[in-house]
Amino acid sequence: MVFVPDLGVDAVQTCSKCHALSPDSAKVCQSCQADLREFSTTAMALKRIRANSRASAIHLAVPLNACPACRAVEGTYPKDQVPALPVEGCSEPNGCQGFYEPLLDEIYP
Ligand SMILES: [Zn+2]
Ligand SMILES: [Zn+2]
Repeated sequence: MVFVPDLGVDAVQTCSKCHALSPDSAKVCQSCQADLREFSTTAMALKRIRANSRASAIHLAVPLNACPACRAVEGTYPKDQVPALPVEGCSEPNGCQGFYEPLLDEIYP
């Protein structure tokens, strides 16, 4: 039995402006109409990683029990070539659980 840590990733998209939840299929926040491709919490995380000069690449991580569409895109990408979240074609009943992680350059003092 493998436990996947709860990283605070919602099963649906979370608006970074008003914190309302919207389904993965929504293009805009159902509460404040913000563009979720720009302002979902995952999109904001991606922006932060891209802006981090120590991040040399981005890892798209998915849970061990993720659907085939998510497993197919799991991997490490150049900062400007990461697939968007939620994963297109994701078939999980509770919504896509993919998230971004920075790959940081080691700093040798
Ligand atoms: Zn909103
Ligand atoms: Zn999926």
